[in-house]
Amino acid sequence: MKKLNCPKGHGPMELKNLNKKKTFKGVDIEYMADAFVCPKCGLEAGTVQSAGNVQRAISDVYRTKVGLLTGQEIKSLREDRGLTQQTLAEALNIGIASIKRWETGMIQSKSMDRALRMHLQCNILSDSYTGNREISLPRIKLVAKTFERILGRRLLKSGDKFLFLAKYLWYADMLAYRQFRRGLTGASYAAITYGPQLNNYRDLVKPIQESDENEAEPLSREEARIIQRVAEKFPNEQEVYDAAHREKVWIESKTGALIPYSCAVELAEI
Ligand SMILES: [Zn+2]
Repeated sequence: MKKLNCPKGHGPMELKNLNKKKTFKGVDIEYMADAFVCPKCGLEAGTVQSAGNVQRAISDVYRTKVGLLTGQEIKSLREDRGLTQQTLAEALNIGIASIKRWETGMIQSKSMDRALRMHLQCNILSDSYTGNREISLPRIKLVAKTFERILGRRLLKSGDKFLFLAKYLWYADMLAYRQFRRGLTGASYAAITYGPQLNNYRDLVKPIQESDENEAEPLSREEARIIQRVAEKFPNEQEVYDAAHREKVWIESKTGALIPYSCAVELAEI
């Protein structure tokens, strides 16, 4: 590291690791920082190398104090789950630049912090968004038809956006995952304004309606029982719709973010 002389002509300054105090966004912060100090007059000069580290340190102490994940915590939680910055960004429906910035000192909003925690602390695995199986449109239709039969009402309506059907599918998939570590349909679900919904539902509604449920792998007795249970719990569409909107996993997800199957343990309505 380059030597620095005191600008007041007292000769070489000494490099020290100092305990610093500062008020940041209204919060008192203590942090450690490298600085050159003149042994004669006490004048301090920050090092070029430490400038970024100081910002990061202040940001992390601040985040700890106000109950947000620190940059280091975001990074290590992410890496523990085997997620790249890119896959995490996609799952949260945000740009990769945001993840990079939060990990290096920029402070995330409270709502983004909740979304991060949900995704990082729900024990996400790489296949966590499809419930350990490949998506099958005939299977989605088969499950939908099974719901229709039990409930005695139509859910697959033409021109429909699956606003209600998606909630039934979601509960059934999540419940199956909770019990057998495997969903029923392989569908991914996103948190949209109208509750949990099939991810990319706009592109899926028509192909699902046009698919042949007879091509699907038949439901096992245990899988059929899951559907039965969800149908009995929510005999009408408004009930399943309202229940889904009370689920913490939906409330705390950022709009557009995928809901991991591993969050099935947190479902409270069933
Ligand atoms: Zn000096």
